[in-house]
Amino acid sequence: MKLSQMLLGTLREIPSEAEIPSHQLMLRAGMMRKMASGVYNFMPLGIRVVKKIENIVREEMDKSGAQELLASAILPSELWKESGRWEVFGPEMFKLKDRNDREFCLGPTHEEVFTDIARNEIKSYKQLPLNLYQIQTKYRDERRPRFGVMRSREFIMKDAYSFDKDEKGLDVSYKKMYEAYNRIFERCGLKCSCVEADSGAMGGAGSAEFMVKSDIGEDEIVFCTQCDYAANIEKAPSKPELGEKEELNALAKFETPNVRTIEELIKFFNTTPKKFAKTLIYKADDKVVAVMVRGDREVNEVKVVNEIGGAISFEMANESLVKKATSAEVGFAGPIGIKVDFLLVDKEIVNMYNFIVGANETGYHYTNVNYGRDFEGIVGDFRKVVEGDTCPKCGKKLTIARGIEVGHIFKLGTKYSESMNAVFLDENGETKPLVMGCYGIGVTRTLAAVIEQNNDENGILWPVSIAPYKVIVIPVVSKNNEQMSIAEDIYNKLSQNGIDVLLDDRNERAGVKFKDADLIGIPIKIIVGKKINEGMVELKFRNENLSEDVEIENIVNKIIKKLKK
Ligand code: ATP
Ligand code: MG
Repeated sequence: MKLSQMLLGTLREIPSEAEIPSHQLMLRAGMMRKMASGVYNFMPLGIRVVKKIENIVREEMDKSGAQELLASAILPSELWKESGRWEVFGPEMFKLKDRNDREFCLGPTHEEVFTDIARNEIKSYKQLPLNLYQIQTKYRDERRPRFGVMRSREFIMKDAYSFDKDEKGLDVSYKKMYEAYNRIFERCGLKCSCVEADSGAMGGAGSAEFMVKSDIGEDEIVFCTQCDYAANIEKAPSKPELGEKEELNALAKFETPNVRTIEELIKFFNTTPKKFAKTLIYKADDKVVAVMVRGDREVNEVKVVNEIGGAISFEMANESLVKKATSAEVGFAGPIGIKVDFLLVDKEIVNMYNFIVGANETGYHYTNVNYGRDFEGIVGDFRKVVEGDTCPKCGKKLTIARGIEVGHIFKLGTKYSESMNAVFLDENGETKPLVMGCYGIGVTRTLAAVIEQNNDENGILWPVSIAPYKVIVIPVVSKNNEQMSIAEDIYNKLSQNGIDVLLDDRNERAGVKFKDADLIGIPIKIIVGKKINEGMVELKFRNENLSEDVEIENIVNKIIKKLKK
């Protein structure tokens, strides 16, 4: 491609709406333009990278035995009502009606559609296993679209769905996807870790996320400092810290006027947060749930939702609900006499002695409270793991980092096949539900994550595998006919050899050309300047400071060799 003919709008200024490097650089390099909040147009340079990532995904999915198809993006509500997710998805789903008032949505994900395809097409165990995938645009009306295509409302996803006759078969399908995902991200030049993820209230099954470590990530990942254990914080089990055993003292009610928060209580009682158990009240659909954790701990809401068997909506209770449950002002909640549907008690509390809780009476707390003697509840793991907690695998220390989820693999089991009656006939002629897995990769998010990991003060540093163009040939002075004709010759030869190459034939100053080449991140630069008088051109790699002079007649072969490696 000749730059003089290309629609390329590079920007020198950082667009004010973009907070993170990948978003800034995608706009500055003219890869995409914003249409509306979380909605972007991919420009010629951007779509090339999207296609390259898609092709890597496609090659690896095909290699793993999966088959590509393309389902519709406009989905009838009936399917979603069958699985029960029409309401569950909530405001994240873009809903629309046709001229006859029939309800549809723009597909946010396709479990229902692929289950429907499977129940119509799969009759017998002989057709199994089967893994179907598509690369398609998805729509989610995200609460907070941000960071460009990292979290957009329209994005490209590769989604795959596997169908097996039993759990053993699912294990095999799942492992194949795990391996394919590792190859895909590696080929895209992305360093990421596969971490254990929450698999929801269904439990049992398995789920893992592919995470890119990054401070701007919205997920928290727990890593072991010694072994290979890694999990999403939502999933990571906590180990209770054992309190020192004490004689049980008599329960006492204490007047604590205007002392509500843990900080105020610590001061008032002149003690440590480990001596308190806080009681947080949530609303889960139409149920009220109280959760107790040690004063210095945080509730892991995902663990709570799983314990109560799932919830469509889950949020902190409002003031009036708190007052109703505790018969007191906010700040005095405790387990004794509380009126809730579930009282969940973090297992750490069971090992505490003579601690302090709210008395469910305005202006009062109980002291010398002990689990089992003074109250009981559902005991389990309900707190968030913190830095320094012990690894569930090896017992050494855990550390926490932020991460961006680029892919997710998930054992669904028979959740959808049962609710949507997707069955097959097994070897004995018996009807059985299909055993399913689902596997997603955010194609456009992966693109942004690669930039997030590969950039410097001058612009993007594309890994060769997904660079929009691998080489750029720059005649320093376009008006110099000799430079231009040598540059064109190199450009033509590289093109003829199937190499994605740009020729910067614009009538611009050399500085502008170099700046643009660095900004858009082309891995290899061939500079055709004064040295042609000595029969030389300059070869420069984007990720290195050094450059080397190469004979004009050798440059094409050298590049071909280099890119073949
Ligand atoms: P998140 O927690 O980030 O919202 P998710 O759990 O909703 O992700 P999945 O439903 O598992 O995501 O979708 C599969 C993949 O699609 C994700 O791993 C991610 O790479 C991508 N993805 C999801 N939502 C978005 C979005 N709003 N913008 C861009 N990519 C997205
Ligand atoms: Mg999401």
